[in-house]
Amino acid sequence: MSELTAINPATGETLDRYPRMQASHLEAALARAASAAQDWAAHPVGVRAQCLRDIAEVLRRERDTLAQTATLEMGKRLAEARAEIDKCALGCEYYADRGPDFLQDTMLASDASRSFVAWQPLGTILLVMPWNFPYWQAFRQAVPAILAGNTVLLKHASNVPGCAMYIERVFTEAGLPEGVFQNLPIGSDAVAGIIADPRVQGVSLTGSETAGRAIGAAAGKALKSSVLELGGSDAFVVLADANLEHTVAQAVRGRYQNNGETCIAAKRFIVEEPIADAFAERFAAAIQTLRVGDPLNEGTDIGPLARGDLRDELHDQVQRSIDAGARCLVGGRPLDGPGYYYPPTLLDHVEPGMAAFDEETFGPVAAITRARDADHAIALANASRYGLGGSVWTGDSVRGEALARRLECGCAFVNGIVKSDPRLPFGGVKDSGYGRELSELGIREFLNAKTVWVG
Ligand code: NAP
Repeated sequence: MSELTAINPATGETLDRYPRMQASHLEAALARAASAAQDWAAHPVGVRAQCLRDIAEVLRRERDTLAQTATLEMGKRLAEARAEIDKCALGCEYYADRGPDFLQDTMLASDASRSFVAWQPLGTILLVMPWNFPYWQAFRQAVPAILAGNTVLLKHASNVPGCAMYIERVFTEAGLPEGVFQNLPIGSDAVAGIIADPRVQGVSLTGSETAGRAIGAAAGKALKSSVLELGGSDAFVVLADANLEHTVAQAVRGRYQNNGETCIAAKRFIVEEPIADAFAERFAAAIQTLRVGDPLNEGTDIGPLARGDLRDELHDQVQRSIDAGARCLVGGRPLDGPGYYYPPTLLDHVEPGMAAFDEETFGPVAAITRARDADHAIALANASRYGLGGSVWTGDSVRGEALARRLECGCAFVNGIVKSDPRLPFGGVKDSGYGRELSELGIREFLNAKTVWVG
């Protein structure tokens, strides 16, 4: 296909077509990124930090246009799209404020008269990004890389070409020098060639496990640095002493925000037996009040899924789980009519071996699994090939913290929904990938930790 097509998932209608980048233009973009990398790294860090503040300003000015484009292209609610833009602006300001400190030399005592680690940019970094948070995913990786003095190439998901174009426009409008940030409207078939190109020094993917294996292999073959932020099937462990009303409200928020299309959404609700029936009953009642509809409408709680094939895949997972013995308490069938709508769905008595337990469900489907006690709940939480996030809900936060330490994941929360925050490292273990984004650890991923020894 010579074009990238944006389709409105609320209607199934084509919004716009964007020409794919030709090979000669891709070659020119790579050359621009490599030559800009030299100049950009030589800019004082204070100048680079000021650019981030200017980007935050443009984001806030263009908030409505950017938000509307995301809603139209991938179906998230308008209010959530606006909040995403605000988060990008905050991410820029966080790294403008804290980044210069993170880049200071780290002094280390040794047999030298002076020895230290100098944190230096690697060069050009390729970002391969998903559609579900079309701005935040790209910004949270691009911003620290750029502050560090790297240049960035973005290969965005094919179904959000308008968002990708706007991201480049924001960087340009903010006055970033040419070549520091470029959008590449290309297909995934061009990614391995870019990773292998000697002008590119690293790659960061946020996406599925399948893409992770392909990109990890390409990076390994080319000996390039890589960060992989992949799928998740986060456990939401509810102990018998949890405040039921509050916990159910948070469970519903944690599962259904962003139409359920969130890597760190709570997906497996593992509940201690004594309160499992009450939890399931309240959860079912709460999701029956959620309004499914046009994401541009302010009264909507759940919009459409981003693509028709993703809805089909989700429904297949629900169907296979029911066939294997899960009980469907709410929803469970795609909605009729135009658009890729799937209703809030609740499956109870889900067990290991069922699709809703073993696989990542990327949409508004919650699975309840009953646990004999807290140890059994943690064992069930860890009986997953994923390890992105997880949470424990209890009236005893000290016990909650001890159990959180036992969760096999990259981000464990106690009495809180798993979320990304620029101030805290973010990433997974197991098949959820490797490397960290955000905070001081995130900026380190695409830096050369150069040891300097002075005699
Ligand atoms: P995806 O299909 O893996 O796509 C992500 C990006 O990778 C897109 O730009 C895609 O390009 C590209 N891609 C796909 N296959 C590729 C390949 N073989 N080689 C090179 N590039 C490839 O994932 P998605 O459906 O957009 O996003 C949903 C997934 O992302 C879920 O699994 C979710 O959990 C995960 N996710 C993880 C995080 C995290 O932080 N851990 C955050 C958000 C989402 P095309 O669009 O052109 O195919």
